[in-house]
Amino acid sequence: MAISLRNLSVNYSLQQGTAHALRGVSLDIEKGQMHGLVGESGSGKSTVAFALMGLLANNANVTSGTATIEGKSFDLTKRNATADLRGRGMAMIFQDPMLSLNPVFTIGTQLCEVLRRRTPGSDRKTQGAMAEDALAKVRLSNPGRRMNQYPHELSGGMRQRVVIAMALLSEPALLIADEPTTALDVTVEAQIMREIIGLRDRIGCAVLLITHSLGLVTEYCDAISVLYAGEKLESGTVRQVQRQP
Ligand code: ADP
Ligand code: ADP
Repeated sequence: MAISLRNLSVNYSLQQGTAHALRGVSLDIEKGQMHGLVGESGSGKSTVAFALMGLLANNANVTSGTATIEGKSFDLTKRNATADLRGRGMAMIFQDPMLSLNPVFTIGTQLCEVLRRRTPGSDRKTQGAMAEDALAKVRLSNPGRRMNQYPHELSGGMRQRVVIAMALLSEPALLIADEPTTALDVTVEAQIMREIIGLRDRIGCAVLLITHSLGLVTEYCDAISVLYAGEKLESGTVRQVQRQP
């Protein structure tokens, strides 16, 4: 098993009292698997992603939870337990690509920054070539020219391709995609899903696809987990879960 999450419980401190967002959620994702995490808005999907990435809001409290990623265990009740994995063992794609991109740096600089962090000391020319190659792999048009452009010069779908290229360069064991296509139009959605699958197939990583879209899950996911009000209702293949009454 590439990734296993055990007994994750999270609450948020409110001005009055606490809100329980997750209660004892466990998940297993195999290497190379696209695992859909579905549930209605507010069911706790993003909280699972942020807890794994170590990106929870300051008023969040993880009361229990362990993640095992490539054989290493992390105690999620400790703040920043997985921070070292960000951009290395784990990568994340958000609904808004600008959450992953910096508006004041060119695409090329940002892709090279990913490489610099992964392999400090590698030379600039090699990094530039690898970055441009990653843009070509996610089928961004004119990759050479894109290297010198800024995020605001690209469309939303093109920016999301850049973010996928960044994830590709970081070679994660787990890629979390949180509503990666929700802000894009339907034709671009299929293209972006194809690039996420391309990334998974190249790297062989596990993918956790967070979505409210049953269409995406049935079309692309090998397995699915359903969250309801912070609890996992069921896990299985798409067929198994659909057969439930
Ligand atoms: P989903 O991604 O399925 O929409 P979330 O994980 O965003 O669900 O939210 C789960 C629950 O936690 C919701 O009730 C939401 O309102 C609450 N919540 C999320 N973030 C915070 C926060 N920072 N402070 C208080 N409550 C929050
Ligand atoms: P570190 O934590 O590795 O020291 P810093 O955030 O301090 O990294 O940044 C190191 C250098 O990288 C700085 O020169 C900074 O301007 C540059 N840098 C930081 N973030 C980015 C980015 N997203 N894209 C390009 N360059 C960046």
